[in-house]
Amino acid sequence: MNAEITPDEMNTEELRAYTENKLADILSVLSDVALGDLTVEASVDSEDIFGSVAMGVNAMIKGLRELKAQDAEKTILLEKTNQELEDFVYIVSHDLKAPLRAITGFAQFLKEDYHDKVDEQGQDYLRRIAEGADRMHQLINDLLELSRIGRHRNPFVEIDAGELIRRTIVFVNPPEDVKIVVSDGMPAIFCDEVRLQQVFANLITNAMKYNDKDEKIIEISWAGYSENGCDEFIVRDNGIGIEEAHLDRIFKIFQRLHAKEEYGGGTGVGLNIVRKIVKQHGGKIWVESAPAEGSVFHFTVRRQDKDQTGTEEQWLV
Ligand code: ADP
Repeated sequence: MNAEITPDEMNTEELRAYTENKLADILSVLSDVALGDLTVEASVDSEDIFGSVAMGVNAMIKGLRELKAQDAEKTILLEKTNQELEDFVYIVSHDLKAPLRAITGFAQFLKEDYHDKVDEQGQDYLRRIAEGADRMHQLINDLLELSRIGRHRNPFVEIDAGELIRRTIVFVNPPEDVKIVVSDGMPAIFCDEVRLQQVFANLITNAMKYNDKDEKIIEISWAGYSENGCDEFIVRDNGIGIEEAHLDRIFKIFQRLHAKEEYGGGTGVGLNIVRKIVKQHGGKIWVESAPAEGSVFHFTVRRQDKDQTGTEEQWLV
């Protein structure tokens, strides 16, 4: 096309070719942007409507670049704060152990050496001190475990999920009244093996614990590989179920739906740990349930590119 002539002077054929050319240029830039490339720019080489559109596209790309930079800053800040919080929890939990040991120890001395001088009421107080200290010990251990998850990161390895689940079941060592069915055809996954075993162990233990049936049935299956690059696993039980209002709450720290001594007791930290591990694997966890209808826990694990394993990227979730 003759570069000298303006659109006003073009014949229909020339105008069509000119329009197509300009639109193709702008669409190509937009498709690069849609794929996440913000280094591109539309060329503003005419003073007509296409020049104005190109300027508009460039202004949009500039805005997107600024937003991306702000996002990256926020992510770094958030990670730093999380890390500081984890360090803080670790130090506090660790330091609480020593005075707690002293409380337990002296309560024990009182019980053993002064039992003939302490009346029944006093014995009851001592028993309660010991129980409270035990519970605090449990809470501290769970908090330490929670903070360890953020502090110690094992390398990712490839493992057959079926094998990992079988190993977990041996570790959990379910009693006679529990039947666990693992479906065939489990995929190979890239994961922090120890942590993912912890996820399955926790979900299986809960499925046994919050279950009042004579035969406790737990089904573990693979729901498939989804478009967003994740394998989805399901742990289903025939237990007591959960009210709809609490389906999100149970994943928060220290949230138990029962009195502390009911259903074998617990600290309400387990599912929070599970959620944290699942997040570290680029996935999410949710539950479907209704009272007396059993519960179905779903969680996903992002498939890792072998070359990326061990990089920081996998933790940016
Ligand atoms: P913990 O078992 O120590 O209380 P978790 O974080 O593992 O802590 O679980 C939080 C709460 O979620 C439990 O106290 C229980 O009320 C509920 N829950 C967890 N798993 C199940 C399940 N499979 N069926 C019914 N309720 C469950």
